[in-house]
Formats: sequence, C-alpha cells, structure tokens
Amino acid sequence: MDKKFEEAVKDFPILTRKINDEPLLYLDNAATSQTPNPVLDQIVSFYQNTNANVHRGVYTLANDATTAYENVREQVAAFIHADEAKSIVYTRSTTDGLNLVASSFGDLVVHEDDEILITIMEHHSNLIPWQQLAQRKHAKLKYVELAADQTLDMADFKRKLTERTKIVAVTQTSNVLGVTNPIKEITKLAHQQQAYVVVDAAQSAAHQTIDVQDLDADFLAFSGHKMLGPTGIGVLYGKLDLLNEMAPIQFGGEMIETVSRTQAKWQTAPWKFEAGTPNIGGVIGLGAAITYLNKLGMPWIEATEHRLVTYLLPQLAQITGLTMYGPKTVAKHESIVAFNLRDLHPHDVATGLDMLGVEVRAGHHCAQPLMTTLGVESTVRASMSFYNSLADMDRFVYDLKMVKEFFNRES
Ligand code: PMP
Repeated sequence: MDKKFEEAVKDFPILTRKINDEPLLYLDNAATSQTPNPVLDQIVSFYQNTNANVHRGVYTLANDATTAYENVREQVAAFIHADEAKSIVYTRSTTDGLNLVASSFGDLVVHEDDEILITIMEHHSNLIPWQQLAQRKHAKLKYVELAADQTLDMADFKRKLTERTKIVAVTQTSNVLGVTNPIKEITKLAHQQQAYVVVDAAQSAAHQTIDVQDLDADFLAFSGHKMLGPTGIGVLYGKLDLLNEMAPIQFGGEMIETVSRTQAKWQTAPWKFEAGTPNIGGVIGLGAAITYLNKLGMPWIEATEHRLVTYLLPQLAQITGLTMYGPKTVAKHESIVAFNLRDLHPHDVATGLDMLGVEVRAGHHCAQPLMTTLGVESTVRASMSFYNSLADMDRFVYDLKMVKEFFNRES
C-alpha cells in the first residue's frame, strides 16, 4: 500500500463516518471535495490568531491579515504558473469568475454579429453567461459538438472558429464525460483568429498540473471547494493587460482609489474586482489547500486517480445494461464516470447506493444541453479523488450490482 495514501486518508476525518450504518464511500468529488485537517486547522488558526479586515488598518493585526491574504495570491499564482500575483482575482467560485469575464470582458470585445464559440460539454456556468452575453449583444453563440468517441470534435472546432469568433469558452475537464480537452491547441488556433480563450478549470485544478503560460489561456477560473478548500472562494486568472482593460462589475469599499461626490477612480487589477470585505478566511483555507496539494504533488495525485479509473472502467463495462458516457479508452479518461443502468432511473440508483453508504451524484450535472445531445435526461456519476482506494472501487462495483439486482427483482 502507498504510504502517502495511508497518511493522506488520515487527514480526512469525514471518511471514517457511517452513512446508513455503512462506512461512507464518498464518490461525489466532482461536486465538492472533502477538506483535510491541515486546511481546517489553518482556517481556525487564522480566526484564533490573525483575524482582522484586510487592506484597511494600520495596526499590526490588520497588517498580518493583509500579508496572509496577499501571500496566498502569490501561492495561487505559483500553483497555476502565472507570471504575476496581480493576475489572480479572488472570486466566490468558478461561476463567479466566469460571470465576471462574460459581463466585463465580454462586454468590451463582443459586438453585434460577432461569434462566441463554446462547447456542448460546458457546465451551465460556462454556458449561460455566454448565452446571456450573446443575447445582449445580438451576437451568435456556437457550439462545438462531440466526436464519435465523445471527446471534443476538434475538426468541428476548426470549422466553427472563424474571423468573427471573439471568445472561445471551454472547459478543461468535463464534469460529465471525464474528458480533458486540448486547451493548448485550442488557444493556439483561437489566437490565430484573434479570439480570446476562457478556460473553466473547475474540474482540473485539483487533478492535474495547470500552467496558464504554457496553455496560453487568456482567462482561467476555478473553485476552492473542489480542491480541498472551503466553499465561497474561487479564483479567476486573467492576463494582466486584459484585466487592466476590464471594468469592475461590483462597486463599493476596497476597490477604489478615490471617490468624490460625482466620480470614483478604481484601484488597479486585481483589487478593482474585489469590492467589499472579501472572504478572507476562505482565502486562507485556499492557501492551505494548495500547500496540501503541493505536498502530495500533482503528478502523484494524477497517477493515483488514473490508477482508480483504469481499475474501475473495465469492471463497469462488464455490467450488463450499463451505458457509460464519455470516452471508453482509459487513456482519455479522468476520474469522473457518468453512466446509466437500463430501465433504472439514475435517482433510484443513487438512492440505492446511498442506502449502502455510497454517495454518488444523479442528475443532469448542470449540463442539460449535453444531456440532450447524449439522448438522456440525467445520469449517475461517480467521481473519485486520491483518497479513494482500489478497494473502494471493488466495493462500488459490488454495491452497484446489488442495487441493480434489487431493482430488477422489484420490477
Ligand atoms: N464548471 C464545471 C466543469 C463544474 O463541474 C462546476 C461545478 N460543478 C462548475 C463549473 C461550477 O463551479 P462552482 O459551483 O464552484 O461555481
């Protein structure tokens, strides 16, 4: 057994609790990740020792809080290989970051008859903001479709990317199909057409090394709660010259340089986007989460999760009546597996599994246009993390078969 794994699992007290008298098997990591003790400790320690508002006070405690808050910005920048901390805007979540880009940057660069190119596998939070922008600006929203193997159809992308495309918005990893898109190739092609690329990294930030400079992404958004951090904190990375051009969309304290009766002058980026008292405790937790991920090492996390999918997929494929969505090849698959069992409603499957202590998601996964394309209303989804084991995969398959048998007997 991997020593690192054994040590890491001990940091997650929630994993020892029981659900319906069975040991918890948490397989909804794509919805939110569990929080390890060092992250919880750091948040508690902040409130116990350093709590004060940031960017305001001249006193020691306020300075300490501000330093801690700004140090995490440096840490986030290093985590995604951004060249400067000023490129990091704290947000509430991925959703918040994507809305900021669509509202502010989108407003600047998208005009009537322009095109916005997104993909059919987008989460609603990287779809509706663009749909709204297109409606506001009388621009056209186009979708890149899926290839036969349910990866992104790059030939379709090339066909639909035109000189009218102003923004390409794409997820790095699909929260349903478990596929990672070729962002580097996408940015290269998009930039040749002078289009900007917005990357949704909600499902990738905790699962693979991200290098925004190598990807050449113009914007990239992710959430703290999907990467071992607390809820209510997210990150929007933007190339600094683009952030500088953008107008804030929220106004109030902290984001201004000066205010008169009739006018106000903004702070520079990123602070002009952080109106009001920010989620300071959340930022501290995010910093601790990054420290934790770095300690494990992203390559180790990636390899560990890949081992789980490699082990699980062939077993699922053997279950009669099970339809799996997303690529069938393990090499193309991240640790998110969506599927349906013939004649069974996904909610029944998830409820049956819950009776056995196994927590999976059932629903449309905030990807209704994708569901329509797949010809279903909803699916079951199991999503793994490095704190899951191969034994967990065995148990999951066993329990899934039990649920299947139970309902088949009933019907
Ligand atoms: N994009 C993807 C691919 C996601 O999976 C999610 C979360 N399910 C989001 C965006 C939105 O993240 P949040 O709810 O944290 O804003």
